[in-house]
Amino acid sequence: MQREEILGWLRQDRPDALERLQKRADRVRRERVGDAVHLRAIVEISNVCARRCAYCGLRGPNSRLPRYCMTAAEVLACARRARRCGLGTVVLQAGESDALCADWISDLIRRIKRETDLAITLSLGERSPEELAAWRRAGADRYLLRFETSNAELLQRVHPPRPDRPERSRLALLGELRSLGYEVGSGCMVGLPGQQLADLADDIALFGELDLDMVGLGPYLAHPDTPMGRNPARYLAASEQVPASVEMCCKALALTRLACPDANIPATTALVTLAPEDGLERGLRWGANVFMPNLTPSEYRASYRIYPGKADCADGDPDALQRRLRRLGRTPGRGRGDSPNWLARRAAPSAANGLRPVA
Ligand code: SAH
Ligand code: SF4
Repeated sequence: MQREEILGWLRQDRPDALERLQKRADRVRRERVGDAVHLRAIVEISNVCARRCAYCGLRGPNSRLPRYCMTAAEVLACARRARRCGLGTVVLQAGESDALCADWISDLIRRIKRETDLAITLSLGERSPEELAAWRRAGADRYLLRFETSNAELLQRVHPPRPDRPERSRLALLGELRSLGYEVGSGCMVGLPGQQLADLADDIALFGELDLDMVGLGPYLAHPDTPMGRNPARYLAASEQVPASVEMCCKALALTRLACPDANIPATTALVTLAPEDGLERGLRWGANVFMPNLTPSEYRASYRIYPGKADCADGDPDALQRRLRRLGRTPGRGRGDSPNWLARRAAPSAANGLRPVA
C-alpha cells in the first residue's frame, strides 16, 4: 500500500468506508496469520533508565519513581510460571540502562533456555551491536525496538540522545538486529504530540519497507511526571495532529496489517489501557493477532509506570482470557508463534542477507 493511500485512509471518517477497511484487514489477518492469538508473557525486569524520553514515565530524571531491578531468580520464576500457563514466549522488557549488564542478560537467557522451551523476546532499548550479538548467541530469539516516529526532527525533540555515549539510530540498530538473525519488531506511538497524520502514514509505510516481523503500535498516554505530560501544548502539531484515540489506533492497526500481512501484531497494553472494556477485542478485530499478558511480580508492577493507569493485562484469569478469544472466534496460539514473515525469510537465506536499506 502506497503512502498516499495510507494517508487517505487515516483522514477517512465515513463509518461505511471504515467498516470496509476493518473487514479487509481482518480478512488479510485470517488468510496470512490465521485465527490463533499468540500469547506472550511480558516481564518488566527493571525500570531503571538512562534516557530522557519526553513522553515516558521511566525517564531517568523522574525522581518520583522508586527504581528496581528484578533478580535472575525472580525472572526465572516468571518464566517457569509462563510455561505452566501454557505460554510459548517470554518478553523481557526494561528501561535502557547499563545497570542491566550484558553478561548478566546473557546468563539469564541461557538459564531460561536450559530450563524451558520458551522463545525469548528482548525489549531493552538501544544497546551496542556487540551486546545484541552476544544475546543472540546466548539464545535470544526476537528483539523489539520501536522507532517511535519516522519524523527525524520530532524524534530528536522527544527522544534526545544520551550524553554518555555515541548515538546509533534505532533504524540502524533494526538493520543490525536483522543481520544477526533476530525476529525483528518495531513500531510507533499513535497520537504522540507533534505527530501529524502524514507522519503516521510515513510510519506505516516504513513498517512495510523495513519488512518487519513484528509491529507494535499503541496510543500515546500522557504521564504527569514528564515534560510532554506537563506541557502538551508545547509539543502539539499546528495542523493534523494525530489524535491518541481508539479509533485512530484501530485504523493504524488495520493499515499496518495491510502493509505487513505476515507480521505478528499485538493488541497492545496501551490500547487496552485506553479502552479497558473492549480494547483487546477491537485490536484483534482490526488486524492484531498477538496479546501480551503481564507476568511481572505484583510488587514491581506499579513501579513500571511508563504511563498512568496501565491495564493489568489478564494474567489473573487465563480462563477468562480464553473465553474472550473464543467469543471472537479466535483460539489461543500454541507453541512459539514465530512470525510467518521471519519463517519465510529464514527459509530463503539469500533474502536475509539482502538487508533493507536503513538510515
Ligand atoms: N526502554 C525500552 C523498552 C521499554 S519502553 C525502549 O524504549 O525501547 C516501551 C515502549 O513504551 C516504547 O517503545 C514507547 O513506544 C512506549 N511508551 C513510552 N512512553 C509511552 C507513553 N507515554 N504512552 C504510550 N506508550 C509509551
Ligand atoms: Fe527509557 Fe524506553 Fe521510557 Fe525512553 S521509552 S525513557 S528508553 S523506558
